[in-house]
Amino acid sequence: MLTFLSMLPNKLLNGWYLLHCNHHMSNNTPVNDDDYGDESGSDSSSNPTNLPVLYDVIIIGSGPAGYTAGVYTSRAKLKTLIISGTLPGGQLMTTSEVENYPGFPNGIFGPELMMNMRQQAERFGSIITDDEVVRVDFKQRPFVITTHSQIYEAESVLICTGASPRKLGIPAEGRFAGRGVSYCATCDGPFFKGEDILVVGGGDTAIEEATFLTKFGKSVKIVHRRDSLRASKILQDKAFENPKIKFLWNSVVADIKGGKKIADVIVKDINNKTEQTISAGGLFVAIGHEPNTSIFRGQLEMDDKGYITLKNQTRTSVDGVFAAGDVHDYRYRQAVTAAGFGCMAALDVEKWLTERKQQQQQQEIPKRTQYIQERS
Ligand code: NAP
Repeated sequence: MLTFLSMLPNKLLNGWYLLHCNHHMSNNTPVNDDDYGDESGSDSSSNPTNLPVLYDVIIIGSGPAGYTAGVYTSRAKLKTLIISGTLPGGQLMTTSEVENYPGFPNGIFGPELMMNMRQQAERFGSIITDDEVVRVDFKQRPFVITTHSQIYEAESVLICTGASPRKLGIPAEGRFAGRGVSYCATCDGPFFKGEDILVVGGGDTAIEEATFLTKFGKSVKIVHRRDSLRASKILQDKAFENPKIKFLWNSVVADIKGGKKIADVIVKDINNKTEQTISAGGLFVAIGHEPNTSIFRGQLEMDDKGYITLKNQTRTSVDGVFAAGDVHDYRYRQAVTAAGFGCMAALDVEKWLTERKQQQQQQEIPKRTQYIQERS
């Protein structure tokens, strides 16, 4: 997954654009009521009463986890709304070739893969709205989800909001993103055969990625802002023993130079403030990720870094709220693992809703019996 949208073939981008335009129109298309029993089966944008529409499940986020979950829940005839967020399709929309997603022996463009997933979810009845959730209320039932333009209600919620790679924060970073700057060695490493590579960071990810990148690169230099690593001892030892890896201690990336592609990285020593120019074909930023969980703060249990903590597979601390993908998984962070988690969570949602319905029916029996007795 290397280049950004700007480097994609026009044909593909046009397809993506058209899909988006068509999609906005399809938001107003009422869903066949037969699919959903006697409930109103439309997005609230076509809801004449303007009262919140109740969904069996609302999926927040539209990366591989969200769309895969949508395929499963809508195929199981659950009334499903996917709220796609600010970047419909997630991180893969800003990448080009994906070589490690199974089923595509010649690779597939990230946006094309995500369009396919989106269409597959829609095919089974998922309603997708390109909006952003601004507030959730998990304290009342049904749960209340507020976006910029609508209020929705849901019996269950599945959070697939993912995580974003932490950025260096220098102006050149965005300019060279996808042109030599990468945030995922597993995804992009094979594109850097024979190159001199720099890796920024001193945690497990940076050291693991640097070691992985030695398979492809001519040399790998780790730029770290301190003089010792945060990474686990075993990973450190492996890196120190690797003849292809060198360390630039107490150093930060000050600038990136190049034309269409990255050519040089300016590295600054933070103690003596001197700068050196290092020629490099690739710069991998591995300084951690930020889970996209700010809107759930105070409503769900999270770890100290803000990742949602799970119990019983995909359940969160609130009964009826589930999570899947990078929003809880800081270890694997692959499209295929996120899709797998999406599938697991969807199956858990379905089981939870079925069990809840059965419980509610059981609770109804004494009331009905009493009613019949009173009338007879
Ligand atoms: P991390 O542990 O938070 O490490 C981030 C690294 O980037 C730190 O060395 C930090 O420096 C540096 N850093 C942060 N902000 C920076 C900035 N603005 N400029 C320059 N450097 C910056 O993140 P991670 O390595 O992605 O790991 C995340 C979690 O996943 C950890 O719990 C880790 O153990 C786990 N993980 C485990 C494995 C494994 O077990 N095989 C593999 C990968 C990840 P300082 O050290 O100075 O703070």
